[in-house]
Amino acid sequence: MNIGVLGAGQLGRMLALAGYPLGHTFRFYDTAPPESLPPAAQLAPYVNGRFDDLAALDAFAAGCDVVTYEFENVPVGAAMHMAESRPVYPPPRALEVSQDRMAEKALFASLGIPTPRFAPVDSVDDLASAIAKTGLPAVLKTRRLGYDGKGQAVVRGVPEAAAAAARLGGCNLILESLVAFERELSAIATRGRDGTTVIYPICENTHHEGILRCTLAPSPGASSAAAEQAHRHVAAILDHLDYVGTLAVEFFDTGDGLLANEMAPRVHNTGHWTIEGCRTSQFENHIRAVTGLPLGSVEPLGHCAMVNIIGRAPAADDMLRLGAKVHLYGKEPRPGRKIGHATIVASSASELAGPLEALRGLVLAANQGERI
Ligand code: AMP
Repeated sequence: MNIGVLGAGQLGRMLALAGYPLGHTFRFYDTAPPESLPPAAQLAPYVNGRFDDLAALDAFAAGCDVVTYEFENVPVGAAMHMAESRPVYPPPRALEVSQDRMAEKALFASLGIPTPRFAPVDSVDDLASAIAKTGLPAVLKTRRLGYDGKGQAVVRGVPEAAAAAARLGGCNLILESLVAFERELSAIATRGRDGTTVIYPICENTHHEGILRCTLAPSPGASSAAAEQAHRHVAAILDHLDYVGTLAVEFFDTGDGLLANEMAPRVHNTGHWTIEGCRTSQFENHIRAVTGLPLGSVEPLGHCAMVNIIGRAPAADDMLRLGAKVHLYGKEPRPGRKIGHATIVASSASELAGPLEALRGLVLAANQGERI
């Protein structure tokens, strides 16, 4: 099949790398200028256009059997427009929910999935009542277009909350209670066109400055009860949305149950370890789902760690010598920019520990001691 992908970043690139062996072809559509050679444009035809240019979207869709997307800020209108002429997976409704933190939390709540306490903030006047609901400390976030911890601030008092609200634009905000979690977990699952669902082993994630640094999977810290809850919650969301494709849901594990933070209607950074660490990767299963093929086994192949390469990359040979599998995305190094990742699969937790420590050390050294 000809698969059209909206967005042309590293997730799209890894989708293509997983889909070519199945005989599919790819084309990408994004707003980045072609001369910037976005990661996916380095391996497939690339159309540079705006997401409100319906004629350009139609021309793109005309060459595709199915359309999917690799980032969640694709305008819902563009996805809905394309869905009039071509199958678009995941459903645009999933896109719509995940673009608004209030809609996302309301969906979780409607499905009985616990979340941090939250309240909308549309003006400075809403702050007192929102704080009464969430308590302090709390996190003030933009409802839309936040990513990697951008567009949010921890607030510990009313004056600080008012200053943060002004900084974040004053309206369309959400206040959430600051969760004292034991660990962050994510559940990644793929649902096929026939409703068949596979759920990957639960991942345990470390963030710094809002950016994912490291994923361990299967999670060494999550209890079986927490893993079971995460599976139940992600399955409920998939079925409710009549979802097709790969979905990620992020949770805070409080040690006394899970609280859902957010979801991403796409393949996810915390699932990159599945390329080497599972029988079928999240990318391959996404492609299988959207093209109507049977889904593959998500059995883990060992104790896995994925380390994001942010800023500058260590020398590839140093990482390879540790037994790591290296994925570089063809992006120019820049402080705070994800330019690749490396994965280690070991046969035991103790065998994983040494190489993981060394790999983290290499990434740290490449970035002159900046914490990873
Ligand atoms: P987000 O953009 O919502 O994924 O937030 C980025 C990171 O900020 C999360 O992975 C957490 O580490 C932290 N964070 C976000 N919301 C909260 C919260 N309500 N309580 C505690 N930490 C949070």
